[in-house]
Formats: sequence, structure tokens, C-alpha cells
Amino acid sequence: MRIAEGIEMLELNLGRMTIHPTIVYDRDSWTLIDTGMPGSAPAILELAKQAGVEGLPLRSILLTHQDIDHIGGLPALTAQDRDSLTVYAHEADLGAINGTEPLIKMTPERLETLLGSLPEAERAQFEQTFLRPARTNVDHTFRDGETLPMGGGLTVIHTPGHTPGHVCLYHQRSRTLIAGDAMIADNGELKGPRVDVTPDMEKAMQSLEKLKAYDIETVICYHGGRIQGDVNKRIARLTDRS
Ligand SMILES: [Zn+2]
Repeated sequence: MRIAEGIEMLELNLGRMTIHPTIVYDRDSWTLIDTGMPGSAPAILELAKQAGVEGLPLRSILLTHQDIDHIGGLPALTAQDRDSLTVYAHEADLGAINGTEPLIKMTPERLETLLGSLPEAERAQFEQTFLRPARTNVDHTFRDGETLPMGGGLTVIHTPGHTPGHVCLYHQRSRTLIAGDAMIADNGELKGPRVDVTPDMEKAMQSLEKLKAYDIETVICYHGGRIQGDVNKRIARLTDRS
């Protein structure tokens, strides 16, 4: 779905859930924000092509946080031509994404079940990337408040709570907040993060306060998709606990 010139929200139905990675593109390359589950990469690349990046190289992958449904496609996306890609994530989720610390929401048993369901080649790719990494997966560590050049300017907002290194990204030109899992959309309603998968709700709600500094026209929730209209007011309502 086209959000504005140079920014598209993808919609990928994974059966149990539908996810919404975002792509941002410029004249000479495109950027992917979040990579889906293990096995999602071919479908994401196809959706991106349909969205208008055919012929452009993928140069940057921005990870909003360490959860498996956001980093799962990374091994396949970085399998070829690794050196032409720059992968971004926040410092506080770095260990998990680089494979030097366990993923905070993944038990060894759950990981084993997940890996067991993958085709052999994808399993090997996953293990090589996250369990026996030959190099660091993240090339650039996000700084809170920095503006990256993609799409004319993407501002990094550190929004811990759902994970320690969770970030939202603000696309300045279209005034779009790429929310990751800091909020969800549920039948057109904007809601806070899912309580059962947000270990620090207190912090997650404080993080929503930070969003008030941005003039937001559109929100893209990774789970639930696009929300438009009165966004700042709606966020204020979420954080209003009086
Ligand atoms: Zn998620």
C-alpha cells in the first residue's frame, strides 16, 4: 500500500498473523524496515518489487527490534552480496541480533520447534546467521534522535519496553511513524503494545510519550497496518492514565 511518494507499507499474510514491513526508496536504492519470519524473505522481495522498487538495489535493512517476526528474514536477505548491505539496529538489542546473547522472548525449546519447521537450507542459513555468526549482523547502531538519509530523512526514536532496543522511525516527508510493535492497530483502532509480549509495559508507555514531539499523519503498525487521522490525539489518549 502506497503511503506517499517513496514510502510503501507491505502486507504479508503468514497464516497465523499478517505483518507489515515498510519500504522506503530513493532514486538509486531502497530500504527495508523489518524482515518478517524465517522464510519470509522471498515474499517480501516480491511484494517490494510490486511496490515499485524493481531494478533498484536493496542497500539498507533497518530492524525495529530483535523479535523473531522482525529479524527472521535477515539470514536470507543477507545471504548474497552481504557487503553491499548495511544493517541497522539499536545497541540495546545488538547482542540478540548479533547472536552473542539469546533472544529475550525465545526459549531454546521454541527456537528448536521453529527451526525444525524450516526447510534444511533455511535452517542452515538461520543457524549460521544467529547461532554461529561469522561476522556481526548489525553494521550501524542507531542513536536516539539521529536522522538517517533514507527517503529524505528517517528519524530514529528509541522506544524501549517491548524490547530494550525497540525503535520507531519517523519519515519526515510524509509525516509517517513506522511504529514497529510500540503500538498495534486493531480494526482501525490504535492501541498500545501487546501486554503478553511486552516485558516492560511501564517503560513502553513512557516511550509513547516521546512520540508526542512528532507531528504524525500516518502510523504504520507492524501488526495491524495503517492508521490515519488524529494520530497525535489518539496517542495522547493511550498515554493518558488519569
Ligand atoms: Zn512483532
